[in-house]
Amino acid sequence: MNLEESRLKRENEEAHRRCPVCNGADFTFFYKMTYEFLRDKHGSSVDIINCIISVPENTLDIVVCKTCGMVYTRNLYDFSEIRERIGLAKDSPLTMAELKEAHKEINSQDFLMKYHIVQILMRLLLDRKRSDLKILDFGGGYVGIHARLANMYGRSKCIVYDPIVAEADVEGIKFLNQLSKVWQEKPFDGTICNQVLEHCLNPRQELKNIYELLRPGGYAFLAVPLLSYKKLSQYYEQIIQGKGEAAKIVHLNHINYFSLKNFTRLIKETGFEIVPVQVDLLMYKSHPCANSFVVWEVLKALRSFGFRLAIWLNAYSALSMFFGGSFFVKRP
Ligand SMILES: [Zn+2]
Repeated sequence: MNLEESRLKRENEEAHRRCPVCNGADFTFFYKMTYEFLRDKHGSSVDIINCIISVPENTLDIVVCKTCGMVYTRNLYDFSEIRERIGLAKDSPLTMAELKEAHKEINSQDFLMKYHIVQILMRLLLDRKRSDLKILDFGGGYVGIHARLANMYGRSKCIVYDPIVAEADVEGIKFLNQLSKVWQEKPFDGTICNQVLEHCLNPRQELKNIYELLRPGGYAFLAVPLLSYKKLSQYYEQIIQGKGEAAKIVHLNHINYFSLKNFTRLIKETGFEIVPVQVDLLMYKSHPCANSFVVWEVLKALRSFGFRLAIWLNAYSALSMFFGGSFFVKRP
């Protein structure tokens, strides 16, 4: 099917999404990205723009749900399908040598964050289980960094699932691109889904998949970038100017813009329990100077106490004071 045919086919299809959080159909527009804006200011490829903009308006519409406030892209498109349409092959998983080469420029904060996430997950699991552990890197891409780090724990068996990756066994890690094949590997003891759900057409269904793939008592790490809906007008300016927080978060690959409230709502409605364990790299930085050690430790203790208290009181909106959009959750 050529691009023109695929556009015509889409004209006849249901071309719009409903709210991914509450399934509501009422919305107001937040930002309409025109073809020219995407091509000139966003630097997007023309082939991709042709596959995603709505017809016949020729815009990419980011909207605000009138019921729950969720911000989401209303155009209905799936990136793995678009890749196939424009003839992009699936990404080959990297070997360890290629990974080392690709990570030459990685900064310590980036690396530590991923290492820290895997370390916490493995600690939660190893404290409770002494036999083999099965770990799923959900949406891990061709690097599968969390699976690779988890694989270093001797008793673990790690799988990466990503629809855009070529199937392969690489140095003990299995890369899969079909959910049905991941299903054959269940149950998993732990899953990491880091900065993935903002890309998914149906994040509620993906969370349900993660839940069903875990064994009861299993843990998952879930993280998304967050927006504060109170700052939408500020974000609007940032997108136009191409700088600031919103300019980084709002792009074609992201179709769901969660607030903390909407994200925790989905997590809870899936049936997960939020575990009072924080990913808090800020607190793992080396101390700026020896004298501040006590202040640092007191702040860390206060923060940890506040986080636990907010979860205990079911006061999820207070969590943003302690923490971004990353959670360890448990399937009861
Ligand atoms: Zn909604």
